[in-house]
Amino acid sequence: MNGGLIKGWCPGAHRPMAAEDGLILRIRPPGGRLSSAQARGLADLARAHGQGTLSLTTRANVQMRGIAPADHAAILARLAALGLLDADAAAEQARNIAVTPFWRAGDGTLELATALADGLANLCGLPAKFGFMVDTGPAPVLGGTSADIRFERATDGTLLLRPDGATQGQPVQTAEAVARALALAGWFIASGGVKDGRGRMRTHLATGHTPPPGLAGTTPSAAALPEPLPGPCAAGVLAAFAFGELQAETLDALARLSGEIRLTPWRMLLLPGLATLPPLPGLIADPASPLPRVFACTGAPGCGQALGETRAWAAGLASHLPPGMCVHVSGCAKGCAHPGPADVTLTATTAGFSLIRNGAVSAAPEMEGLDPESLLRHPERIFGIC
Ligand code: SF4
Repeated sequence: MNGGLIKGWCPGAHRPMAAEDGLILRIRPPGGRLSSAQARGLADLARAHGQGTLSLTTRANVQMRGIAPADHAAILARLAALGLLDADAAAEQARNIAVTPFWRAGDGTLELATALADGLANLCGLPAKFGFMVDTGPAPVLGGTSADIRFERATDGTLLLRPDGATQGQPVQTAEAVARALALAGWFIASGGVKDGRGRMRTHLATGHTPPPGLAGTTPSAAALPEPLPGPCAAGVLAAFAFGELQAETLDALARLSGEIRLTPWRMLLLPGLATLPPLPGLIADPASPLPRVFACTGAPGCGQALGETRAWAAGLASHLPPGMCVHVSGCAKGCAHPGPADVTLTATTAGFSLIRNGAVSAAPEMEGLDPESLLRHPERIFGIC
């Protein structure tokens, strides 16, 4: 197997994560886009070496699981042939960039994301989870997406560089944008933002660190739009999947319909330019479906760290979910499926489930020791309905 094998928070293609059912590989498509050939290639790999499914992540990446260690080298070779593999594990980790899927040709988003990826290849010392974001399409949409350094626009269209946690961004020219972002990342490292290999920009600013003039913000960003729903949108059609799990056959079929597929941080795929989609296994294109508002990690038995089952309970709760609410069922306190807050978070513990309202898994629970079967019989206990 190429690269090192790790058990940790951020699997990659070079460095997979070991799970109970085999290796998990995370693929980071450059610019958050897949050509038709790349998408069909991934579908082939999932069928040949994985479990026949792919997972969409909240950083607009794709995961395959259930991989035999002996197959890893062959998968890397195929990913390289598809143009979906970085030079090495360090380059793969550094290229942690979320891109708005709604970019338009000529708006500079893709060019900026590409230049940023090139620049990050030479930057060392950032934590594994430190991320960048390019939200410079026709309207900002990534307000709920985790990132430490953000490219956004002011209401007049001015390009802004904003450290996460700051209320304002710094206007930058396109030609200097990447250099300024790298300077901001360099300041984060030099000013002590990294401790024991971890650290986030928001926490660093909140503990009294202020970027120097030229990197500190002076201009507010335009307000981000709410998370979109599945179905037709101005840029095409958004296709959702329960728990972000996509069958290889469905990806293959979508790739035959569109020359390009864009990944989103909402566990949906954008099919640019299409107005409708045919019925396909697992595909959700109904904006009223509650399933895109239900988050659940693999849980037991697939994840060795899980303290309980997740997806069966989450699917059972979906039909009781009031409009506009979201629920997160997590197999442990890591909260892999939904790092941010949810209206209701249910976390498996050694003593039943904990319930958190309007918070992430790290928030203080309102109730503990809950039995999921009882919650399914009485969903009003968690959703406040009769
Ligand atoms: S949150 Fe879920 S997938 Fe992540 S480590 Fe815990 S049980 Fe495993």
